[in-house]
Amino acid sequence: MTEEPKKLKRPRGIAQLIPGKCIACGARCEAECKFDAIVMNDKGEPIIDSKKCVGCQRCVKICPAQAIEMFFTPEEQKILAELAKQKTAQPVPEAEEPQDPRLAKIKEYKGVWIFTEHTEGKPAEVSWELLGVGAELAKARGVELCSVVIGEKVEHLCNEAFAYGASRVYLVDDPVFHYYRTESYNKAFCYLIEKYKPEIVLIGATGLGRDLAGAIATKLQTGLTADCTGLAIDEKGFLLQTRPAFGGNIMATILTEFTRPQMSTVRPHVMPMPKKDPSRAGQIITEKVPVKEADIAAKVLEIISDEQMDSVDVAAAEVIVSGGRGMCNAENYKILQELADELGGVVACSRAAVEAGWMPLERQVGQTGKTVRPKIYIACGISGAIQHLVGMQDSDIVIAINRDKNAPIFEVAAFGIVGDLFEVVPAITAYVREKKKQKVAR
Ligand SMILES: Cc1cc2nc3c(=O)[nH]c(=O)nc-3n(C[C@H](O)[C@H](O)[C@H](O)COP(=O)(O)OP(=O)(O)OC[C@H]3O[C@@H](n4cnc5c(N)ncnc54)[C@H](O)[C@@H]3O)c2cc1C
Repeated sequence: MTEEPKKLKRPRGIAQLIPGKCIACGARCEAECKFDAIVMNDKGEPIIDSKKCVGCQRCVKICPAQAIEMFFTPEEQKILAELAKQKTAQPVPEAEEPQDPRLAKIKEYKGVWIFTEHTEGKPAEVSWELLGVGAELAKARGVELCSVVIGEKVEHLCNEAFAYGASRVYLVDDPVFHYYRTESYNKAFCYLIEKYKPEIVLIGATGLGRDLAGAIATKLQTGLTADCTGLAIDEKGFLLQTRPAFGGNIMATILTEFTRPQMSTVRPHVMPMPKKDPSRAGQIITEKVPVKEADIAAKVLEIISDEQMDSVDVAAAEVIVSGGRGMCNAENYKILQELADELGGVVACSRAAVEAGWMPLERQVGQTGKTVRPKIYIACGISGAIQHLVGMQDSDIVIAINRDKNAPIFEVAAFGIVGDLFEVVPAITAYVREKKKQKVAR
């Protein structure tokens, strides 16, 4: 008679941070922990309370940098090894096929697709940023990473997509796609999706991208999560789409369970730019899509570029001097402009400044404004509301000037100056000017 294997309880372990691996992605692990076991330190790294951790592994799964692992005591490790042995001895039967017909249908969809946005052949950088996160998703799913290029004379974009990580590009090249129009691009994109069935489609949350993504999701009757700040794959293979919700007060993780593709938009500069390797090559699949000029109602009469409008691209700036309600009026923004000029940067603002009519909406940073990732972000008279922080917390260095020492902006600042901005800002400008003069004189 064979002896029944001893019934062992699987140990849960506790989560622990792997030193040096956290990328301070924005407290996703803290938001994910349902047991208040995680708080963030001032570097944006998690401190895990081993007494509160129940070993649910949610933080491990959500971490985009695989910086959290499960810790097991030597005793627990022995039990795990024993369980593994028992499992090999008695193979678990294959899980039954899902009965829900909707789940069976979604299995036909494979691959991660990234839309390559461009203006007359000039690519939007967000397309390459999405290839970076797309590569991680494709790896986790064991599928191909592909780009979609639609336009006229845009074959050069395929090579760029390969250089940033795509292994295949679906190319639709025709004069009818010279300018972006919702109708024509929507038809072309949906045609490709229906033919090749990707499981995930990522699009930049730009003006164009938001318009296109909404149109595609509506036509294909699938889910779309806008302005995601985190993307990951769960243990069942679903795309976890994380974004701020309820006015930015919580982070919500959204799943598209029964329809495909799973669609998300992500704002520029939210995901890091992957390394470019021009030696990489891939496969181009050229498609002829049945869209005729006569079928498209909208006609493009004129394109007015950002340069013609003399607008400032806050999202692309490396140095940003930003002002909030503490600036008191529009006139006072001159002192921020002077500092920005000295540092080769641009001036931005909080929503309070836009609402007061002191600054244009295009300069607003935050949840309902631009997401920025400059090398230096100087926040002047900005309190640091969560809706503002989500737009600038990934800046390399944040310098905060505020007369309230308890202002939340200091929690994300590398350098904090408690004082009156009308004294501090001109003093910094004068100091920078002086230093530059001395450099020229040397
Ligand atoms: C759905 C939603 C979306 C939102 N989206 C955004 C968004 O995209 N971007 C955004 O910014 N906000 C957004 N908000 C608004 C946000 O909640 C805050 O109200 C806003 O960010 C506050 O702006 P502020 O920091 O300039 O003003 P306040 O919160 O009023 O802070 C002003 C700060 O200036 C300091 N100060 C005053 N005078 C001086 C001085 N002389 N010297 C130094 N410091 C001084 C004060 O101590 C204070 O900390 C959103 C809100 C909601 C509900």
